[in-house]
Amino acid sequence: MSSTGSAPSIFSRIARREVPATIVAETDRIIAFNDVAPKAPVHVVVTTKSEDYRNVAELAAGDPGLLAELVDVARQVADELTNGQFRLVFNTGEDAGQTVFHVHAHVLGGRLGEGTLGSE
Ligand code: 5GP
Repeated sequence: MSSTGSAPSIFSRIARREVPATIVAETDRIIAFNDVAPKAPVHVVVTTKSEDYRNVAELAAGDPGLLAELVDVARQVADELTNGQFRLVFNTGEDAGQTVFHVHAHVLGGRLGEGTLGSE
């Protein structure tokens, strides 16, 4: 479960300010930033600062309180950046489109058109 010995994920590097990103919310254990390749007018990645969990199922099993914090930060971001109507997407596994194996949610808001995450 621990990432000891492997290179830090891109999201860990963003959390450490080693890689620039537009950070829109942050708590002790959660960070949210604009996606570099937005699929919707509002597209924010919400992730844990630790990379102990690869996906939402692992996080739910291992630390449900942290998952609840992540969802709460997602709601706060959506309250600020959308009209309160949004998608919360957790891609889980390569075949489902997951490319970064450090648990994260996508907050998608604004007008969602064809080709947006989860609209197919
Ligand atoms: P996944 O495909 O794993 O569900 O989501 C990974 C997301 O991370 C993608 O939407 C991708 O655009 C975003 N992403 C990957 N690298 C970076 C980066 O360096 N900066 C930011 N802000 N987003 C990134």
